[in-house]
Amino acid sequence: ILVRYGANIPYTMVKVDIKYTKLFINNEWVDSVSKKTFPTINPQDESVITKVAEGDKVDIDKAVEAAVKAFHRYSEWRLLDASQRGLLLLKLADLMERDAKYLGELETLDNGKPVAQAIGEAQWSATIIRYYAGKADKILGNTIPADGEVLTMTLKEPVGVCGQILPWNYPIPMFVWKIAPALAAGCTLVIKPAEQTPLTALAMAALIKEAGFPAGVVNVVPGYGPTAGAALTSHPKVDKIAFTGSTEVGRIIMKGASDVNLKRVTLELGGKSPLVVFNDADVDKAADIAHRACFANAGQCCAAGTRTFVQSGIYDKFVAKAAEIAKKRTVGNPWEKVDQGPQIDADMFNKVLGYINAGKKEGAKCIVGGARMGTKGFFIQPTVFADVKDNMKIAREEIFGPVQSILKFETFDEVIDRANDSNYGLAAGVITNDVTTALAFMRHIRAGSVWVNTYEVVTAQTPFGGFRESGIGREMGEDGILQYLENKTVSLSLPKKPR
Ligand code: NAD
Repeated sequence: ILVRYGANIPYTMVKVDIKYTKLFINNEWVDSVSKKTFPTINPQDESVITKVAEGDKVDIDKAVEAAVKAFHRYSEWRLLDASQRGLLLLKLADLMERDAKYLGELETLDNGKPVAQAIGEAQWSATIIRYYAGKADKILGNTIPADGEVLTMTLKEPVGVCGQILPWNYPIPMFVWKIAPALAAGCTLVIKPAEQTPLTALAMAALIKEAGFPAGVVNVVPGYGPTAGAALTSHPKVDKIAFTGSTEVGRIIMKGASDVNLKRVTLELGGKSPLVVFNDADVDKAADIAHRACFANAGQCCAAGTRTFVQSGIYDKFVAKAAEIAKKRTVGNPWEKVDQGPQIDADMFNKVLGYINAGKKEGAKCIVGGARMGTKGFFIQPTVFADVKDNMKIAREEIFGPVQSILKFETFDEVIDRANDSNYGLAAGVITNDVTTALAFMRHIRAGSVWVNTYEVVTAQTPFGGFRESGIGREMGEDGILQYLENKTVSLSLPKKPR
């Protein structure tokens, strides 16, 4: 595939070599049992990039079998020292860094995000692998002064075989958020990447093999949700399922996970996160933070700050500034230096345009954008709505596109009530120079992450996840690895125990 590459060097042609399109099971590349394939589409021009082996229930069964074998108590993986698991992860991080440019280019082709951003995401992901590599041999249990003549301790043990179902918005980071803590904990994995973006997951599988992970520890089975995804979710030999995607599918996953066994479940779902700007804020800085909070990754970000609440004293000035910034946003060819590429696929493109139309119909004031861009590819103009009311669809539902909704408020308590009036609770932001306001805000807001005078600070060390319908459990940080560990309590009889 020939593309124009221009992250820093405009208009250079590079060839993105697609090396892997089969299923990765037991460290081998195999066709699906049915021999079926599915197309993966370039969102920039709607062309078919390539066809990828389509996994279904039988393929998931094979992959789970490999993962079960790799988790056997005498397997090579289970007999490895924890420090060796860490070394394998470090090796994988080095390989990712070596191939970051290639991984990023492959992602731009498959996902449409600007190439400089895609390469940056691959590099950032390597840092997350290193964080968990360091944790592998620091998984500690406790000794407990239990009542009675016993010596009691806890052992932290890997959960077992884990199914991991991925979204398409940040394919490389999401792959790494899932595998890094799970492998550090000693689990074995079957991963189903999103059908829109299977290519970098397969490229990562090749690096996992090159790093030297034993066969069956990581298996990657591309395919569709209701087939491959559902088979993984309801497989009786899968001990845990980790999912990132829509709240709607999150519910299906939870049901499926309790059908045949009671899998552990972690869910990272949607959001409708508020960003609240108080009168004392510097309007230019606040508008800039709010813009990035909302439009990053073409708005395809679960934590996006999509409800911009602005206090009445600076409302008009803020709206004017927000419009000015959005108008300057560059949208177009992701191989050039742009802020925004296309939306992921036709479905999302139509869904976002549907929300924009709903906003207009319900009486919000569309002050920037409001339509598709060009005639080919899934590009949408950065869109800003002012005078948005709480009950409008664009203020209640996750749009997952480049659409900012600005709402006016008067008082602190009013805005806390309105910001919390959502089924979601993934993230929130506040912009103020008053420390008391900031402290009160962070205590009263119901969200998994709160950012003060900044937005979307997500690092390997920081737990990330949602309140309410934004999810269950946390990824990243110490919490991230705990979700892949069972806690075993062991008591030994110890007569005449000195207390
Ligand atoms: P989705 O939830 O349908 O898909 C996410 C993953 O789940 C994909 O791998 C998909 O194949 C799989 N899946 C779908 N149905 C399944 C099923 N029945 N059983 C098991 N797995 C299944 O997300 P989408 O359709 O790609 O996007 C729709 C909405 O999801 C977006 O509008 C957005 O609101 C949300 N979303 C959120 C995130 C996030 O980071 N939280 C990421 C992507 C999408």
